[in-house]
Amino acid sequence: MKLLSAIVPCYNEEENVSYFYEEFIKNEEFLKAHDLDFELWYINDGSKDGTADEVKKLIEKDSRVHLLSFSRNFGKEAALYAGLSKATGEYVACMDADLQDPPSLLPEMFEHIWQGYDMVATRRVNRKGEPVIRSFFARMFYRLMNRISDAEIVDGARDFRLMTRQVADAILQIKEYNRFTKGIFGWVGFQTKWLEFDNVERKKGETKWSFWKLFIYSLEGITSFSTAPLAFAAFMGMLFCIGSFALILFIIIRTLVFGDPTSGWPSLVCIISMISGVQLLCLGIVGQYLAKTYMEVKDRPIYLVKEEI
Ligand code: UDP
Ligand code: MG
Repeated sequence: MKLLSAIVPCYNEEENVSYFYEEFIKNEEFLKAHDLDFELWYINDGSKDGTADEVKKLIEKDSRVHLLSFSRNFGKEAALYAGLSKATGEYVACMDADLQDPPSLLPEMFEHIWQGYDMVATRRVNRKGEPVIRSFFARMFYRLMNRISDAEIVDGARDFRLMTRQVADAILQIKEYNRFTKGIFGWVGFQTKWLEFDNVERKKGETKWSFWKLFIYSLEGITSFSTAPLAFAAFMGMLFCIGSFALILFIIIRTLVFGDPTSGWPSLVCIISMISGVQLLCLGIVGQYLAKTYMEVKDRPIYLVKEEI
């Protein structure tokens, strides 16, 4: 018998824990028919509500359910990593607790794995039910990201994946602290089959991602998988050097030809403020990378465990 490990990151999902279990267990017939057993790992990412208690109730009913609680909120990326390191199965699936990743897709995903794919990924083809501004910025982010980075990052891609042990091990080899999982999935490569589905709205509760959190996350994505902004900073620096050199030449020649009329204060202020703006921007870009390097060099653990059942 082979084992499927399902990983479910949960942050304040007390209302969804049992719903998810019920949906997931609907696949039991299918799994049995194909000689598959499963283990279900709820990764409790420092929830402040009763998520852990809900999972414990499930564990009493079903010994195939497991719980790993973090000492605080470490973020979904850390939860996915923790789940992958706990998973012992031949196959590993990552899915959200809010049922936005429908477990009913699993049988179809398995079909593709058995056809020879190493990983089956999902993407939602629309964003219905999502605020318009958020969709707009998300689309901009994906377009920019694919321009400036090597990792293939698909618009609408979810973290809902089914993968073989080989792929899971490959992902576990990436031990970086700043984890942008969407990029890591693409970066490891392997034969990936993409399945498309219509967006499903979350079952209960609210999204854990505020606009600000998403903005920081997008910066994380860009700095983790591309150094193009550094090149941009260098390019801007060069452009302004050439520009100022030309300006100096122009002023010298003008002074020699027309003398030195002491006007031009407003233009001077404009130039100074613009150049200092660009300088700050470039410094900020360098700072972003320095901060990432700083966090990596510290080599802190990606997550800390409080409880494991
Ligand atoms: N999540 C988590 N830690 C966090 C934020 C979210 O483990 O810090 C989990 C959350 O419980 C859910 C999944 O990640 O299972 C996706 O989060 P959410 O549904 O809030 O994101 P959205 O679907 O709105 O992008
Ligand atoms: Mg969700």
